[in-house]
Amino acid sequence: ADHSITYPRSPAVMDWGSLFPNYFPTNGNSGIEKQVEFLDVGCGYGGLLVKLATMFPDSLAIGMEIRIKVCDYVKDRIEALRIQHPGKYQNIACIRTNAMKYMPNYFCKGQLKKMFFLYPDPHFKKSKHKWRIISPTLLAEYAYLLSVGAVVYTVTDVEDLHQWIVKHLSEHPLFVRLTDSELEGDPVIDILLDSSEEGQKVARNNGPKFMAIFKRVED
Ligand code: SAM
Repeated sequence: ADHSITYPRSPAVMDWGSLFPNYFPTNGNSGIEKQVEFLDVGCGYGGLLVKLATMFPDSLAIGMEIRIKVCDYVKDRIEALRIQHPGKYQNIACIRTNAMKYMPNYFCKGQLKKMFFLYPDPHFKKSKHKWRIISPTLLAEYAYLLSVGAVVYTVTDVEDLHQWIVKHLSEHPLFVRLTDSELEGDPVIDILLDSSEEGQKVARNNGPKFMAIFKRVED
């Protein structure tokens, strides 16, 4: 439950060095300090993060995952990759947190360049829609944390949730949907549907996949 979640009081006091030791000149490391720019919201078992690590070796990516055991799995997975491939996978990490509550405790205004929502929990019942990870209130928060030009990637196998996501992002003045031609050449598109564990599961079951990608635009 949430009461056992620890989180920084503000982004300024967040200890990124312990998650990305190669990039933060703390504890005697000589790395160059970098900011986290990619966020995988509800990262599950970390399949997307692992892909991002080598696709964008110069960008730091963080996964947020609320389930302790799942987050621990991702941490162990990254630790093993770092040992197997010296110098690699230093740019990804996972934190256990409630992304719906504590995201602004971790990031500053305009810090994020890419945000991923892959197969978020659908919360089918109408009475549970308030638990959906995309909502007008949360979108205002996400817009604040994203830089102008940043991209929000969403994928789901639930058509009703897809329509909900498209509706709320389209209605928000700070987001515009990207067209297929605008997305051409974005390497992320190729890994979006199938790199995460949930995406692989949906593929095994021949389920549908709905993708919607939006850009953060100027105020
Ligand atoms: N994105 C992953 C994938 O594609 O394999 C996982 C998809 S899974 C259906 C949804 C994940 O979101 C679960 O691992 C769940 O624990 C996590 N989650 C749900 N609510 C969350 C929240 N408020 N904060 C962080 N993670 C959350």
